Amino acid sequence: MVMTDNGHDIFRSLEGDSFRFDCHKGISCFTQCCAKLQLVLTPYDVIRIKNRLGLHSQEFLTRYTDTILKDKMKFPVVILKMNDDEDRRCPFVTSDGCAIYEDRPGACRLYPLARASTVANPKKGMLEKFFIVKEPHCMGFKEDRLWSLDEWMNHEGLNQYNEMNNRWVEIVTSDKDLGSDSDVTKKMQMFFMASYNLDRFRDFIFHSSFFSHFYEDAEKINRLKYDDVALMLFAFDWLKFSLYGEPTMTPI
Ligand code: SF4
Ligand code: SF4
Repeated sequence: MVMTDNGHDIFRSLEGDSFRFDCHKGISCFTQCCAKLQLVLTPYDVIRIKNRLGLHSQEFLTRYTDTILKDKMKFPVVILKMNDDEDRRCPFVTSDGCAIYEDRPGACRLYPLARASTVANPKKGMLEKFFIVKEPHCMGFKEDRLWSLDEWMNHEGLNQYNEMNNRWVEIVTSDKDLGSDSDVTKKMQMFFMASYNLDRFRDFIFHSSFFSHFYEDAEKINRLKYDDVALMLFAFDWLKFSLYGEPTMTPI
């Protein structure tokens, strides 16, 4: 999700299944969109970028992100910190474009579209709706190239991002209760670590008695030591169990 600072009234429903748009280095507005953003990062975004930069998740969070928790938000979200100057540019933007292009966040891939998603009913699966983000500075809409939604998703490598992010959306949009106030504080801390600070979560499960409390396949446990995506999916199962009591773990 990308929100601009003055982002009201720029979202239009994606009517039909196609839109006209192109973005390239020669365009007059090149990289203007990479500034003044509240760019929400998902756990999968964090994995991709922190590994690209060769950073521990804690160091990445400290250097590049802010955490926000607003009224009516059930969980805190991590946003990419813009540069602390008048232009408030993204720390990764250069005159040649995005310095982390192959690992740019899902929201940057989706732009100029935006996606609202929720799991209203687990039996019905993910509900999603797409919007066009029509910002006045974006000249891409004046270009002739026509995209279908599927073509755009494939071109931007979004199917993999959505597959990963959907598992997390199930947690953050769940209508299940988090319990008493004291439970909520501890659960928030666990949510933050298991969602965003994955290297610390790895320390937590491997330097505690964690695996003496749950049945888990030895090969899978070994994989969690080096495979961040496997660890993230395991962390999601743990969150569903520890936050909501769902049967995603098997206690011994
Ligand atoms: S403002 Fe639009 S056309 Fe210009 S660089 Fe950004 S996405 Fe591309
Ligand atoms: S991560 Fe890359 S694409 Fe996204 S706002 Fe920053 S420079 Fe632009």
